Amino acid sequence: MKLPASARFATICVHAGQEPDPTTGAIITPIYQTSTYVQEGLGQHKGFEYGRTHNPTRAALEANVAAIEGGSAGFAFASGMAAIDTVLTRLQSGDHVVVSDNTYGGTFRLFERVRRKFGLDFTYVDTSDLDAIAPALRPATKYLFLESPTNPMLSVTDIAAASEIAHRHGVRVVVDNTFASPCVQRPLLLGADLVLHSTTKFLNGHSDSVGGIVVARHDDDIEWLRFVQNAAGAILGPMDSWLVLRGTKTLTVRMERTNANTMRLAEFLVAHPKVTRTIYPGLPSHPHHGLASRQMQGFGGLISFDVGSLDRARAVLGKVRLMALAESLGGVETLISHPAMMTHASVPPDRRERLGISDGLLRVSVGIEDPADLIDDLTQALA
Ligand SMILES: *Cc1c(COP(=O)(O)O)cnc(C)c1O
Repeated sequence: MKLPASARFATICVHAGQEPDPTTGAIITPIYQTSTYVQEGLGQHKGFEYGRTHNPTRAALEANVAAIEGGSAGFAFASGMAAIDTVLTRLQSGDHVVVSDNTYGGTFRLFERVRRKFGLDFTYVDTSDLDAIAPALRPATKYLFLESPTNPMLSVTDIAAASEIAHRHGVRVVVDNTFASPCVQRPLLLGADLVLHSTTKFLNGHSDSVGGIVVARHDDDIEWLRFVQNAAGAILGPMDSWLVLRGTKTLTVRMERTNANTMRLAEFLVAHPKVTRTIYPGLPSHPHHGLASRQMQGFGGLISFDVGSLDRARAVLGKVRLMALAESLGGVETLISHPAMMTHASVPPDRRERLGISDGLLRVSVGIEDPADLIDDLTQALA
């Protein structure tokens, strides 16, 4: 079962990083739930010494996602935030990072409330406007940190063009690819230097694990990430590694269904008289639709829409039956949330308004249910 070099995306998702278990032939990589490994003699071991440093289940997942993203090596962490924080440890005091504004709230909090204390500086710009990137770069800038599409405005950044601008200034590009998933876009192939995920979302896909992963392609990044994953130790455990590895096998079919379902919902919402605004990169009315059509394969599973006021949003949330009111995204079940009072509650009201996060805005993470049932649910909730 050697994966041929010509293997295509869906095949890579199912097979990469996994060989039948050498002792039993088990087709599925076992959960190596162990903290240590018995050595044959002093200094004689099978390459495994301690569970923080090495775990075969984690290694299989890391190789799998590295292949899926088209990178050279992967490093799995206890959460998406642990993955992002680890990427920041490449920098040192005095360094500067340019970040997509409207970045994930937890990322903003980590940058502003934790890492700023250690001498890092961050500037937030609308990276969907390529002209805004170069003026924000300084001699001390080390990373351009991109998110595309963003949450919940689904703003799209041209990753290839932004990478070119950054590279011209000697700046490396990090992409948080959680919202798109590698099925929809693969940033390393577009020129990015590091890509990361909250595996909690589409990669695991079943709302039953929290984790993160970084995929790198430069030797110096790989060497550091391997060192600090062990040195700081925020590793993904064997059970969670196994769950995510199970999730990536079905990534392609889940995303194809998710993309199709979300497009169906977008068309329904656009035509609904009580919806004042529908935001989805797959709609021709989206300001970045042309770019999204070139850069993304399918437009992803997130959609936002405005019902006009907080009262109406509250009414819809109280009436949905199938859609669950919850934060998070990327699972097989559809979730609905209210960004202004949930994920973006810590963002000051004036900044929320500037970003377009109104009180009537709802965001749906579309699952893989029958789309007719999702439309029925919203029909009765909006009535
Ligand atoms: C959820 C999320 C994170 C954080 O991941 P956790 O696994 O919750 O720590 C980071 N970035 C994006 C875009 C996310 O959606």
